[in-house]
Amino acid sequence: MCGIVGYIGTKRACPILLAGLSRLEYRGYDSAGISTIEKDGLSLVKDKGRVKVLEDKPEINSLKGTIGIAHTRWATHGKPSKENSHPHQDNHKIFSVVHNGIIENFQELRSMLEKNGYNFLSQTDTEIIPNLIHYYYEKEHENTVHAFLKAVRNCCLDLKGSFAIEVISKLFPKNMIVVRKDSPLVIGTCEDEKYLSSDIPAILSYTRDFYFLNDLEFALLENTCVKFYNVNLEEIDKPSSSIEWNAAASEKNGYEDFMLKEIYEQPTAIRETIGSKISLDNKCDFEELRFTKSYLETIDKIYIVACGTAMHAGLAGKNVIEKLCRIPVEVDIASEFRYRNPILNEKILCIFISQSGETADTIAALKLAKRCGSKTIALTNVIGSSITREADYSMYTHAGPEIAVASTKAYTSQVLLVNMLAVYFAEILGNTDVSEISNIKQEMLNLPKKIEETFSCKDAIQEFAKKIYQEKDVFFLGRGIDETVAKEGALKLKEISYIHSESYPAGELKHGPISLIENGITVISILTDSALMEKTISNIQEVISRGAKTLVITSHACDPSMFDETIQIPDTITYLSPILSIIPLQLLAYYISKEKGLDVDKPRNLAKSVTVE
Ligand code: GLU
Repeated sequence: MCGIVGYIGTKRACPILLAGLSRLEYRGYDSAGISTIEKDGLSLVKDKGRVKVLEDKPEINSLKGTIGIAHTRWATHGKPSKENSHPHQDNHKIFSVVHNGIIENFQELRSMLEKNGYNFLSQTDTEIIPNLIHYYYEKEHENTVHAFLKAVRNCCLDLKGSFAIEVISKLFPKNMIVVRKDSPLVIGTCEDEKYLSSDIPAILSYTRDFYFLNDLEFALLENTCVKFYNVNLEEIDKPSSSIEWNAAASEKNGYEDFMLKEIYEQPTAIRETIGSKISLDNKCDFEELRFTKSYLETIDKIYIVACGTAMHAGLAGKNVIEKLCRIPVEVDIASEFRYRNPILNEKILCIFISQSGETADTIAALKLAKRCGSKTIALTNVIGSSITREADYSMYTHAGPEIAVASTKAYTSQVLLVNMLAVYFAEILGNTDVSEISNIKQEMLNLPKKIEETFSCKDAIQEFAKKIYQEKDVFFLGRGIDETVAKEGALKLKEISYIHSESYPAGELKHGPISLIENGITVISILTDSALMEKTISNIQEVISRGAKTLVITSHACDPSMFDETIQIPDTITYLSPILSIIPLQLLAYYISKEKGLDVDKPRNLAKSVTVE
């Protein structure tokens, strides 16, 4: 969560760090701070509030150093306050540290340090880190960069939990040390400058060449070079990777908000995710997967494991994999899966979905599955992200950077990619009718055009948003695949409009929730599966008779006089229908949030990638 940035180069670090922090603000934003190496030692400027508060501080202008670290905080230990903001320093002000993550054993380490004479000024878990580095550095009895590196390494060996850490020291004015474990950190490299960040988009305008650290690998940086070390401090080789995303993809490009831009980027995201993998003439090919018929035939079950929106994409994928491959699929929430002792063995295949590839619970669930001998596939949007380094196989949505906290184009790309995986498996297994597969492929190729057509609902949705933005509760109904979309629609609405919203399988309503339906309450239904349509319409009638206001999203002919508002969307095959039917619901959540005057891209309490458990 939240973000860290770093710079080591030839220019003034401060403006670069502030620009990076602003780009990362969507990840978490209760306080911000910066520390640079100045002629007279380490600077430290920090406070509660947004990056703007930091920018407006007069001290900021006096920072001239060319090496610095910076942080936006999403508090886990200690309330948002100036003292708790990062960077933190040791008692002797020799080391400055920024940290993302949680140190689970900080109490124990704090007591040890207190016994050794260290004092603490904050309530954070982080403040033990600079002091522990100091504690170990003192034991080295030599003033070398290697001693600095060793002190950081020894400190990290004591830490339990998750961390991405940047350390600078007034004793080593040309260096910075960074390390990560279960928290994201990337290193962007140019000739005589190095940029550090929690994610790629924040520094994409400076470089496309990145290094990715594995857990407990240390990078010792100078402006012209980076050396990598394993946990035994043996130097290791690490190639850099080039990223295709361009910097413009991380800008708003004339849109009022990132979320709106990302909604409208969905035709491109879908086209890019299909790439050259789907064609009517050739079998779907994921050369990176290399699955064989004999292996697929041994699979007893597939688990799809994810959190939030990605889990909803998994639910949509369950239908298509079961239908085409005849392998049972169970969809699990990562934070539940890992603690319920799931049955895992070599006959189970596990698919993990995470937009950022940094979702802590999903990565932990993947590690568990691997330990138990199951094969693992990571499905993510970010090349080089942590999950791809853990999984046996990785496959990518090509949605481009998604900045708004509420996921839109990543979700639709994930739904598509799981469908593509199902087709890939089905073609290897060879049990599905070829014409059915061709039909799915043709419909995949038609999606970008159909998404464009779906956007024509915008005005009607905007009008409907004006009617309901002051509501306190909204219900979402659907059956089958439409119910998975109801779930995602309800989540979008709560995330960015703060309206209480619930989704139910339409047939389940009578078993309890219908008692909540009263005059004027809004019920939104999705009707794309023609086989289930009549049943769902009956359920909608039941809520209409109890006074509900109804919005229906449908791909079939419906008498518009039946409902208060009917949104017609293009028809497609059931498996792919979430990619179209979610669009009016994304727009609805967006326009309601705007009507309420809320910050669409950065909803309260939420962070884009949830890198803590
Ligand atoms: N646990 C640390 C704190 O509460 C870091 C939180 C973060 O990742 O921003 O300060």
